[in-house]
Amino acid sequence: MNKQVYPTRIHLKELPPKGEHFHFSEQTGELNSTLGDLLKDLKYSADIRLEPAGNAFQISGSITTKLDVLCSRCGRDMVYPVNDLFNEIIVINTETPRDGHLGHVSTSGQNEGPYCNYINNYDFDLAEFIHEHIAAAEPYTPHCERPDCETHWERIRALAETPAREETTPFAALKKMSIKPQKD
Ligand SMILES: [Zn+2]
Repeated sequence: MNKQVYPTRIHLKELPPKGEHFHFSEQTGELNSTLGDLLKDLKYSADIRLEPAGNAFQISGSITTKLDVLCSRCGRDMVYPVNDLFNEIIVINTETPRDGHLGHVSTSGQNEGPYCNYINNYDFDLAEFIHEHIAAAEPYTPHCERPDCETHWERIRALAETPAREETTPFAALKKMSIKPQKD
């Protein structure tokens, strides 16, 4: 098994022209402290390629992990698999220092353009990059796909809607309705 430990902070000026490959996992543990707030059981695998691209740098690769989330329907715990493929650009922007923080902006306003990470110096934090990608992969409305998800949700909703007083139940309202005899 590959147990090589890779650095998580890269000085981009020191990249060889043909680029460099990085691999991180919970086994080598480089990102365990950074990703601990996102990943409870801390299983992840990240393959990253960094290479110079003119005045900028290209970062591509994949991140595979699992997130513990709550089903947006039935509210139960579920595991959401993350398989994030990316191919982005890193632009060094020394004119607008922003505290070294990653800016994540699409170039030229086109949706299909590559994402640009603007940083203000040549130190690139791979750990923060990976953290940001996993956080962004978290779904807004995850769905557990369990066969009883709907019935579980109906049960919760029914419980939530059960009023304290009998007079206000839908059944009580039904009783008050007069049913007109039908004419043949
Ligand atoms: Zn569910």
